[in-house]
Amino acid sequence: MATATRQAVLCEWCKKPLRRNSTDGLNITYGDINAAEQRGMEIERREVESRNRPLKARPLSGDPIEFPHWRWEHLSCTEGEGYFIAMNRIRDSSMAMAWTVHLMEKTWFRYTEWESAMRRGGLVGSTN
Ligand SMILES: [Zn+2]
Repeated sequence: MATATRQAVLCEWCKKPLRRNSTDGLNITYGDINAAEQRGMEIERREVESRNRPLKARPLSGDPIEFPHWRWEHLSCTEGEGYFIAMNRIRDSSMAMAWTVHLMEKTWFRYTEWESAMRRGGLVGSTN
């Protein structure tokens, strides 16, 4: 796969570019990790509830559940401590894949907006 010239990744707080080989990076706060765990439990509860109802009585959906965001940010702009991945440890798609596989072991991971963070970071292209 050709490495396209990537757009600069912007800090989601000050909107200025992040330096590629720096210790700035991708963060999800501990508060948001906790929120992701709560969302996960809520989703599982709804699934169980829905399974226990006769098919006809199942609601189409509950209120949409939003997932917490990962944010690209300068260390100096961060809104809080969290699970942090420095830019120099997630420089390209193959490193991003390794992080994805690693993070999939965490119970809260699938209830976060990882995919959109990867897109904003220019780490995934089109599958077409
Ligand atoms: Zn910033």
